[in-house]
Amino acid sequence: MKTRIVFSEKCLGYGTWHIEGPQRVKAAHDVLQAKGYKFEEPTPANDEEILAVHDADYLFNVKKGLVEDSDTPAYQNIYEFARLSVGGALLASKINGFSIMRPPGHHVGRNGAALGVYTRGFCYLNNIAIAVKESGKRTVILDIDGHHGNGTQEIFQGDEKVAYISLHQSHNYPGTGNFTEENCINFAIPRDIGGKMYIETLDKALSMVNLANFETVAVSAGFDTHLGDLATLGLVEKDYFEIGRRVSLLKKPAFFILEGGYVGEKVGLDIDSFLKGYEENL
Ligand SMILES: [Zn+2]
Repeated sequence: MKTRIVFSEKCLGYGTWHIEGPQRVKAAHDVLQAKGYKFEEPTPANDEEILAVHDADYLFNVKKGLVEDSDTPAYQNIYEFARLSVGGALLASKINGFSIMRPPGHHVGRNGAALGVYTRGFCYLNNIAIAVKESGKRTVILDIDGHHGNGTQEIFQGDEKVAYISLHQSHNYPGTGNFTEENCINFAIPRDIGGKMYIETLDKALSMVNLANFETVAVSAGFDTHLGDLATLGLVEKDYFEIGRRVSLLKKPAFFILEGGYVGEKVGLDIDSFLKGYEENL
């Protein structure tokens, strides 16, 4: 258990009625605590860090509670929650840790909803994108959430310092990522494909990147690919061990940012399995 978990109880303070609610992260936290992981507290990101990715008028509107869509409410003080979650990503990047902070981030682009999608999919600020920009490092972003990270693709498409790889369920929200574009390698996968074919697809995707061009790996770690979750690919706990092992085989420093995954206890167990696989060869 070398990887530290980044978490602040403050992220549990909003949205109790929503599927992207505090219960999912609380339960995951409790599983990881019981397993003996060490925790680190983040501090909030500042405007300068956020503005490296987002437009000033979008940030202004988030601060004022002026942006809202059908699945991304303008909660009171959401800006404070969102910038603390970004702070979690920044800390995870610095210590090669795993941030389990919420809200998630990969659906939100520079100016809100990304690539023509009409909602921000529970996201306010793009945590992983801000952490990657702030590091200044040439980065492979591996997005294993079951939904395409349309925001992250919008931010980095054409950016030669970044390779973005996403494996996600086809015919699901947000509907983007159906083919590979420039530096954005996308695999839209049929529902409940199962672990064996998932890992084969992951190996194929990773082989498409020239690793010599990159210094570090950032993982958008969503667990809604778990069997029965919102974007199920039929994966079970042991499959995340194999995914973690694939990340370690890239032989680069890595950090991890929670995206989706809506059954908290399973998220905790899947994170533990993922990190055990990742750490096997460290
Ligand atoms: Zn998702």
